Amino acid sequence: MPDSIIEVQDLHKTYREGLLGRKQVNALRGVSLAVPRGSIFGLLGPNGAGKTTLIKVLLGLVRRSSGGGTMLNRPLGDRDGRRRVGYLPEHHRFPRHLTGNSAMIYYGGLSGMSRREVLTKRPDLLERVGLAKWGNTPVHKYSKGMQQRLGIAQALLHSPDLLILDEPTDGVDPVGRADVRRLLKDLQSEGKTIFLNSHQLQEIELVCDQAAILAKGRVQRHGTIEEITQHPNARIEFTLRG
Ligand code: ATP
Repeated sequence: MPDSIIEVQDLHKTYREGLLGRKQVNALRGVSLAVPRGSIFGLLGPNGAGKTTLIKVLLGLVRRSSGGGTMLNRPLGDRDGRRRVGYLPEHHRFPRHLTGNSAMIYYGGLSGMSRREVLTKRPDLLERVGLAKWGNTPVHKYSKGMQQRLGIAQALLHSPDLLILDEPTDGVDPVGRADVRRLLKDLQSEGKTIFLNSHQLQEIELVCDQAAILAKGRVQRHGTIEEITQHPNARIEFTLRG
C-alpha cells in the first residue's frame, strides 16, 4: 500500500441552519479516501458536492460530525498537522492596496512568521512562481492567474510538504491556467504533495495523477486519473459546469 499523506474514513459533516438548527444540510455523507504522498490529487465534483467542506474538515476549519483519519501522520484537526499544510482558499482575494512584496509579508505575519524570515524566503518564492519582476506592482493589477500564483507562493512560505488548493484555476484565463498547471507539476517534482479541488474534468485530467469524484457528499469513484477519465460516464457527468 503506498504511503498516504491524507487518509480519511467515513467522514460525515452536517451543517445545521435556521431556527434552533432545525434545517440540516448533509454536506459529507461517509467520505473515505487516500491521497498518496508525492501525488497531485484532484477532488472533482459539481457545485455543492462537498469539496470545500472536505478541505475545511481536513484543516480543522469546520468540525466534522463523525468519522476520522490522518493528515501528515497526525489525527485530523490536529494543530501541528495543520501548520504543516499550505492552503489557498477558494476565491482568495488579496487586499487591494498590497503589492506582491507586501502581500508576502502580510500573510507571512498572519501565519506567525517574522518579517525577517519572510524577507529571506520571498525572493526565491516570487521567482519560483514567475513573479519576481512584479513584486512592487499592486496585486489588483495582476491577472487572476498571477494572483493565484502569488497565493501559491504565500502558501509555500512556511515550506509545507502538502499544499491544499481550493479551485486554483477557477476564473483564470487559458494561458494563466497553463502557468498554474506548470507550477504545480514543478512543485510536485520538488517533492510536494498537492491536493486540489476542481469542478472541471479537463483541469484534473491535465495535471493530476490521482482523483476522486465527489457528488452529493459521497465519493462516486476514486483512483488513477486514467481510471477516472476513461470511465464511460466521466464526460457526461462533467459537462455540469465550466
Ligand atoms: P462549490 O464548487 O460551489 O464551492 P463544493 O463542492 O465546494 O461547491 P460545499 O461548499 O462544500 O460544496 O457545500 C456542500 C453543501 O454544504 C452545499 O449544499 C452547501 O450549500 C452546504 N454548505 C456549505 N457551507 C455551509 C455552511 N456554512 N452552512 C450551511 N450549509 C453549508
